[in-house]
Amino acid sequence: MAYDYDPQNVFARILRGEIPNETVLETEHSLAFHDIRGQAPLHILVIPKGPYVNFDHFAAEASAEEIVDFNKAVARVTAELGVTPGEGGAGYRLIANSGDNSHQEVPHMHFHILGGRPLGRLLVAPAD
Ligand code: AMP
Repeated sequence: MAYDYDPQNVFARILRGEIPNETVLETEHSLAFHDIRGQAPLHILVIPKGPYVNFDHFAAEASAEEIVDFNKAVARVTAELGVTPGEGGAGYRLIANSGDNSHQEVPHMHFHILGGRPLGRLLVAPAD
């Protein structure tokens, strides 16, 4: 499967410093920043610095070092923001939209971290 990465997508532009972001954490291979349209009191995006379109692209082609770095960055963000259940936090939700049915808007792999209030059930029925 060939993945077609668009280097003009908004997260690529954030990584190149062309548009600002509110950084929460930066590691060698990953960047975490506030979502510009937060949908919960806590809404952070974590992205790999590499050019991956979505989660399956990342899983297939990222190095083990990038994958470990990314996962540890997600865990560090939840810990530093105080929502990690294993450390007494109230919990959080991870979402990774991938492809058309998911309604993925930005074609650069990212996890949403949502928390800060009860989030309800995972899905609501789509509008007809
Ligand atoms: P998705 O639908 O999973 O692709 O989510 C993309 C997310 O990126 C949305 O929640 C947007 O609010 C967020 N977003 C778009 N542009 C920016 C930006 N410049 N800075 C921070 N978040 C952004």
